[in-house]
Amino acid sequence: MVLLFNMNESSLKKKLSKLNFNNLRYFDSIGSTNDEALAWAAEGAKDLSIVIADEQTQGRGRLNRKWFTPKGSALAFSLILRPSASMRPHLSRTVGLAALSIADSISRIGLKPQIKWPNDILLNGKKTAGILVESVWSGDDVDSLVIGMGINVYKPSVPPAEFLQFPATSLEDELGSELIREDVLSGILGAFLHWRERLGEDELIKAWEELLAFRGGQVEVKSGGEVPVTGRVDGLESDGSLRLRDIHDKSVIVRFGDVSLRPSA
Ligand code: ADP
Repeated sequence: MVLLFNMNESSLKKKLSKLNFNNLRYFDSIGSTNDEALAWAAEGAKDLSIVIADEQTQGRGRLNRKWFTPKGSALAFSLILRPSASMRPHLSRTVGLAALSIADSISRIGLKPQIKWPNDILLNGKKTAGILVESVWSGDDVDSLVIGMGINVYKPSVPPAEFLQFPATSLEDELGSELIREDVLSGILGAFLHWRERLGEDELIKAWEELLAFRGGQVEVKSGGEVPVTGRVDGLESDGSLRLRDIHDKSVIVRFGDVSLRPSA
């Protein structure tokens, strides 16, 4: 039997205030938590403000691809970051910070997550969570960052197969036992606070690298309309870019952007 635990706004607030996430906007249903967070950030939301929704009707992936968040089954939230001076040189690592936070908390419940560079978390080769980082600019400077995370917690969060280009799963499917969404959320936010303090450290790149999916394997990276790059996954550069090795063992660096990584046939 699948037990759906409703999100309870007051217990959520209590739980998150213990982690110092005191500025919280909760919605039973919303278009997109990132849109709400971007608007709130532009109005001056404080660092570590958070928007959480039980359901998203217009959840977004990159390039306006859709992210499925049906009621009562997933985690969908967006964190607002106001980067300190010491974080500013390392903002290209933000997606890694988010990926590690999700991966760490999933590892702690006994699963073995991998990070499909740049922005997805896999369990058993299937997508379980996605990340969408967006920025609010003030002239040439980043004023704030919005980090959207979507995590498939219970079975009904997994989209129908016709919706997908890549197989998907949920924590419940992989764990085979019950878990509570709010506990998963606290785990992720706790890990986020831990890694955020280490944004500029080598340790973060190392931990991120160790979790890379397809490491040592051949992949194909598509970027917009360009010819796909193929190579063996070697590791990460210090800015979080992906390093591949081509057939001549030459390194090829793949920068962020709209890239889609797939194992090559
Ligand atoms: P990509 O997998 O190409 O990197 P994105 O990271 O932008 O794409 O994620 C959007 C894609 O993820 C959608 O086009 C859809 O195929 C898939 N998707 C949408 N919702 C979910 C979900 N809840 N779980 C797993 N995959 C999803």
